[in-house]
Amino acid sequence: MDRQAKAVVCREWGQPVQVETITVEGPRRGEITLKIAACGVCHSDLSATTGKIPYPPPLVLGHEAAGVVVEVGEGVTDFQEGDHVVSSFISMCGKCRQCVRGRPVLCENARKAMFNLPDGTVRTKDANGEPLNVFGACGVMAEFATMHVDNCVKVDQTVPMQNAALVSCAVMTGVGAVFNTAKLEPGSRAAVFGIGGVGLNAIQGCATAGAEMIVAVDNNPAKLEMAKEFGATHTININDVDDAAKAVKKLTGGVDYAFECVGAGPVVEQAYKSLGRGGTAVVVGVADPKDKTSLTTLTLPADERTLKGSWLGSARPQHDFPRILGLYKAGKLKLDELVTRTYPIEEAAQAFDDMVAGKNARGVIVFE
Ligand SMILES: [Zn+2]
Ligand SMILES: [Zn+2]
Repeated sequence: MDRQAKAVVCREWGQPVQVETITVEGPRRGEITLKIAACGVCHSDLSATTGKIPYPPPLVLGHEAAGVVVEVGEGVTDFQEGDHVVSSFISMCGKCRQCVRGRPVLCENARKAMFNLPDGTVRTKDANGEPLNVFGACGVMAEFATMHVDNCVKVDQTVPMQNAALVSCAVMTGVGAVFNTAKLEPGSRAAVFGIGGVGLNAIQGCATAGAEMIVAVDNNPAKLEMAKEFGATHTININDVDDAAKAVKKLTGGVDYAFECVGAGPVVEQAYKSLGRGGTAVVVGVADPKDKTSLTTLTLPADERTLKGSWLGSARPQHDFPRILGLYKAGKLKLDELVTRTYPIEEAAQAFDDMVAGKNARGVIVFE
């Protein structure tokens, strides 16, 4: 059935987001409709409003949400009404070579579902009946969303929805970079460059994995304080030092793992330079397509260094989302503390402004 829903929409690049009442069609074959309970506001949503992530507007934003199944399409056997579901902006077909070898974030069919559902169409239209694209095949910054099951992960019903929502982007990206991409060994030394929602999660991932030293690097004193609450043992304000990489080296003797959570060539360079012998730098931040970095080639063989990338924390969403929520329930990962502020959907523009101003670890839009 068709449902009316308030939704946060990007109408034009460079313009503030708008709240509109849209129509969300019911599920077709292999799809489900969710009543969304909470949706995190992520820098990637902002990037879609500026064109840095070039999804064509009009676009329903949102990819970091949790909701309840209210309608199930034909052929769906793994979900039923009442299930709690977290969105995955990575569409996982489950059948291609990458999915079969356990790398669903690299799914060969994911590019078919960037700003529409995997079949190339959308279930969303505006008040004039014009179709609306959906961020990451999700478009979950809305009261309802119809999604393909390849973008849905069933989760534990006892976890509060606003916490569960964050797992699908910020937490998975940061914690997964440590657990899955770096496979950080206990007792190692780590540095995290850039303390946003993702950086904080890289820090708590390092702490949970047993890192001995965790150095947080940023230019914002408030964020560096937050980093300590999430497990940073040391902080470096880049405004207080000539060279952040040298400062990290002086403190640690060179780290075993450096996590770049900004997405900028010069910061990647700093992360790589902060490594000790045998160290691994993991690039988590999403840079502009034209951005470049440089490194001293000799250090790759002579120090056996590694430079690698991490996409959504090398997630296997069906496995990792429930696993992360399990660690939260066991008291080993902080999720409550990540939610700095919640907003009703009418205040979505404010939530974006607050993110740009760096006020929140995470701002979350909550519905009803
Ligand atoms: Zn995100
Ligand atoms: Zn696949």
